[in-house]
Amino acid sequence: MRFDIITIFPEIFSEVFDFGIVRRAVETALIQINVHDLRDFTFDRHRQVDDRPFGGGAGMVMKPEPLFRAVEAVIGDESDANVLLLSPQGRLFDQATAAKYAKEQRLLLICGRYEGIDERVVENLITEEISIGNYVLSGGEIPAMVVVDAITRLIPGALGCEQSAERESFSNGLLDYPQYTRPADYRGKSVPEVLISGNHAEIERWRRRKAIEKTLRRRPELIRDRILSESEQRELESVLKNIDEAETNKGT
Ligand code: SAH
Repeated sequence: MRFDIITIFPEIFSEVFDFGIVRRAVETALIQINVHDLRDFTFDRHRQVDDRPFGGGAGMVMKPEPLFRAVEAVIGDESDANVLLLSPQGRLFDQATAAKYAKEQRLLLICGRYEGIDERVVENLITEEISIGNYVLSGGEIPAMVVVDAITRLIPGALGCEQSAERESFSNGLLDYPQYTRPADYRGKSVPEVLISGNHAEIERWRRRKAIEKTLRRRPELIRDRILSESEQRELESVLKNIDEAETNKGT
């Protein structure tokens, strides 16, 4: 997978991508990240990338010419390239979108700044606008880091242990189960007995149950949107029954 990022602040990325899973993915050539300075695609003395908005109003808008030139230079004649714009107006980025893009060979990410970018760029060059959440940031660089990180972890071989990605929150439509590590007893707080029982079937069941309980409590809409397997359905019913009983007991 090759990521290309177009930005006016290329230096921002070096440190962030130089750690952990992303760094290892670069070192093992699973991914390649090329960061391009938008100002290299300007021709004027001031290397200007922004200008005042037509029609007036506050702030500056990113000019079309440097962005057109940059995108054309980076994708060449690849007409089916994925050109993503980070934008608060885009579709909300989630694990399913990350998984979809993890199957691609190339992604070009464009980071906006100021009040955003000239709409002609959006209409003519962008294949999808992606938002990382319902809030406005000052630039697309942090969102681009989020997107590259989330996608990279899903590329086969990026995580040490292949199972980890499958089991994580959202991957199977549920939040992750609670995790514990040594010591088994810390300041009088002990880890759930079942996890040190060595009974793998019981551990599996406990984890399934905890994942369902947690998801139901915190993100019930995830459960609504998902088809449960038979064993998960059984667990869900039993969790719901327990909640019911607890409610009834409270009432009496
Ligand atoms: N005036 C614009 C916001 C500009 S914010 C509007 O109201 O839509 C400047 C840049 O930050 C955007 O061009 C985009 O690249 C980036 N950005 C801000 N918030 C974002 C978000 N939630 N997700 C992705 N990118 C975002």
